Amino acid sequence: MKLNKKTIEDIEVKGKRVLVRCDFNVPLKDGVITDENRLNGALPTIKYLMEKGAKVILCSHLGKAKGPDSSKTLAPVAKRLSEMLGKEVVFAADDIVVGENAKKAVAAMNEGDVVLLENTRFRPEEGKNEDSFSKDLASLADVYVNDAFGTAHRAHCSTVGVTKFVDTAVCGYLIQKELKFLGSAVENPERPFVAILGGAKVSDKINVINNLLEKVDTLIIGGGMAYTFLKAQGFTIGTSLLEEDKVEYAKEMMDKAKAKGVRLLLPLDNVVGDKFSAEAAPVVTEDQNIPEGYMGLDIGPKTAKLYSDAVKDAKTVIWNGPMGVFEFENFAKGTIEVAKAMADSKATTIIGGGDSAAAVNTLGFGDKMTHISTGGGASLEFLEGKELPGIAALNDK
Ligand code: AMP
Repeated sequence: MKLNKKTIEDIEVKGKRVLVRCDFNVPLKDGVITDENRLNGALPTIKYLMEKGAKVILCSHLGKAKGPDSSKTLAPVAKRLSEMLGKEVVFAADDIVVGENAKKAVAAMNEGDVVLLENTRFRPEEGKNEDSFSKDLASLADVYVNDAFGTAHRAHCSTVGVTKFVDTAVCGYLIQKELKFLGSAVENPERPFVAILGGAKVSDKINVINNLLEKVDTLIIGGGMAYTFLKAQGFTIGTSLLEEDKVEYAKEMMDKAKAKGVRLLLPLDNVVGDKFSAEAAPVVTEDQNIPEGYMGLDIGPKTAKLYSDAVKDAKTVIWNGPMGVFEFENFAKGTIEVAKAMADSKATTIIGGGDSAAAVNTLGFGDKMTHISTGGGASLEFLEGKELPGIAALNDK
């Protein structure tokens, strides 16, 4: 996939109607937004376009709406954005998204004005990328900007279809940053390049492991997925997470690492408990083996040191997935140690979205990382080497 995409700074926007696909998929409780990170993340692009005299038309999905659904309206977002921008964001409350309200609001816009459309998933065509809705969206705009990395791996009307019906389609600052860090790490990393993979399942990350073995100098595996690898090496793993049908795959990956000259690091010791519970007493194993009746819930201290040392020597580090059940205090140490090593490192440090981003933020290391991706699924697909349709559809430089 070409990563050198035109950005909002490469085009003339003054006086133009600019449709911006944002990620306003925020958590709501009783109509109140409980986490504003995504709104804050969208501001730089919106402010730039306002300052340059564009007519800024915002759109986004919210939740899993499959048609009009008043509990998933973007009205609260319009209200909060108005406060954040110090200027009214006119909300076009159309159940068909591009209806009379939207058309009227856009026709009345002056330079620097902002309009927000209703939840794009109120239109059933959105998820099917059908032309009818893509054309409606495009009819409001001269220029399209995608700034929603979290949905760039989905080919929807508002991420892909609309680009067929406008002349200019570029990225905003959020996607530009994702391309700069995730993109250059995967395509052209400063070496040594270390990837750390954890989380619950091997099966979720099969393609990531396979693709990263083509790119990295060191691949570190922790979390629940490590036990399938330990089993493949012949160690006992007690009642730890195991994907029996992936043991062969784990062997193949270990062979591939050897053939490619990639250092593949697996746990040397474990912190185990007798049940999956925050109350389970943590026991450190002597070596890789886990006794009968116990399950691995974190990497052990020797392993944490091995992994942290590998991070210290790296110039680029990508991390996706916790090293253990970090939600339980007794089993969070391994994840904290690795996060610390990344925070202290001079390397370019990149956190894949989703759980790892949440872990790094709740542990308080968020601002020490070079880049925290805003898309869980999208960043994984990026690491799998897949083309993201929402990015592929944008104009090349
Ligand atoms: P993922 O979404 O695949 O990144 O997985 C994240 C989840 O994996 C977190 O909720 C962790 O609690 C869980 N996890 C990590 N290590 C283990 C483990 N050893 N056993 C069970 N679950 C784990």
